[in-house]
Amino acid sequence: MKQAPWKLVCVDCGTQYPGLDVRYRCDCGGTLDVAHDLDALKGCLDTSTFDLRLASRNPADRSGVWRFRELVLPLGPEEVMTRGEGNTNLYRSERVQNYAGLRSFRLKHEGENPTASFKDRGMTVGVTVAKKLGMDRVACASTGNTAASMASYAAMAGMKAFVFIPKGKVALGKLSQALAYGARTLQIAGDFDDAMNLVQEVCDREGIYLLNSVNPFRIEGQKAIAFELLQDLDWEPPDWIIMPGGNLGNSSAVTKGLAELRELGLIDRLPRVAVVQAKGANPLYRAFVTGRDLDPLDGAETIATAIRIGNPVSWKKSLRGIRQTHGCVTQVTDQEIMDAKAVVDAAGIGAEPASCATVAGARRLAAEGVIGPDETVCGVLTGHILKDPGAVVGYHQGSLDGIEGTFANRPIDVENDLGAILEAIR
Ligand SMILES: *Cc1c(COP(=O)(O)O)cnc(C)c1O
Ligand SMILES: [Zn+2]
Repeated sequence: MKQAPWKLVCVDCGTQYPGLDVRYRCDCGGTLDVAHDLDALKGCLDTSTFDLRLASRNPADRSGVWRFRELVLPLGPEEVMTRGEGNTNLYRSERVQNYAGLRSFRLKHEGENPTASFKDRGMTVGVTVAKKLGMDRVACASTGNTAASMASYAAMAGMKAFVFIPKGKVALGKLSQALAYGARTLQIAGDFDDAMNLVQEVCDREGIYLLNSVNPFRIEGQKAIAFELLQDLDWEPPDWIIMPGGNLGNSSAVTKGLAELRELGLIDRLPRVAVVQAKGANPLYRAFVTGRDLDPLDGAETIATAIRIGNPVSWKKSLRGIRQTHGCVTQVTDQEIMDAKAVVDAAGIGAEPASCATVAGARRLAAEGVIGPDETVCGVLTGHILKDPGAVVGYHQGSLDGIEGTFANRPIDVENDLGAILEAIR
């Protein structure tokens, strides 16, 4: 195989490995970064390269990931396995801004990706690399969205997909997608962290390609959230970017992408990145406030199933990025998440529970004075409202355990009768 122009570098000890290799960790156990030759790009890459591609009809240029391919993976447009991911809207809602207590708060809706979560941005790169490596079987552990995304991209690439999910803990929309796209779906009697341990072992033994976010190429694709957001803003950085944190691949990706844009001089300052965790699944929050290494949490619990993770793989990369941007980590309760979700939903935007931790966290950070009311803030909504219909209906019907339907819009039962209906309307 021809040598790749990028390298894999250990986050812990700095050991370098060839760029194209079936490898997820350093021999020392540390996670790996994809390191690009940024010096070679300095001076010959500017934002107009990316802006011009917005008018192109080439599928790689139209993808909100591969449009930035020099900074993602420098492959030819014909080599990539794309579904036109990204190109998501950046919304602004008075209602959400008032709720958060911020005057400029925009929401990048990553639920508008092909399989309805940001995971597609990483998966298009992961599956493209799997193909380049000649792999025909891929696997992941998932709280649902990674499984949905991998199942779709693997099907399109003609690969066999194996997903490991915690039985009974995956939202209905996500489980439906994994089954429908034809993935072999293993429901494990355990939680996500158990599934994650098992899938790594199985992939090592069976020579199946692992597509969790421990795979460094997933991270490279997810950086494009930052690239596209900056492009949406005409390359004018906001003061803050806020996102939820579970396995912490996404915050690792966004901060890495921002740092690379800054190093190349494509933006003139780094936005601060805030990561929001659910109180019942908050190992990063605890590491951040204590200044210690991450202490894995047994039995993580939150209604936001996408971030119900106690032992996040990418915590070191994530903390490194948060510190580099002078950002922070906060935590919110399930009640705060579901109330924020009701506000996002009622604004007509809508997103799944984990996504709305972003808005609940923004409100908390504004109330605490960490974010000033006039700072410019962009939040990432990570998944689509229909991923978790159970949470929506439960909230509005008041049937969720321990959650108050603060902003509930209860369905009204009426007789099959015009008079009764008119009365209910008036
Ligand atoms: C995966 C996911 C997250 C968490 O992202 P990490 O990279 O694991 O921190 C948050 N929200 C949704 C909807 C997700 O699918
Ligand atoms: Zn190492």
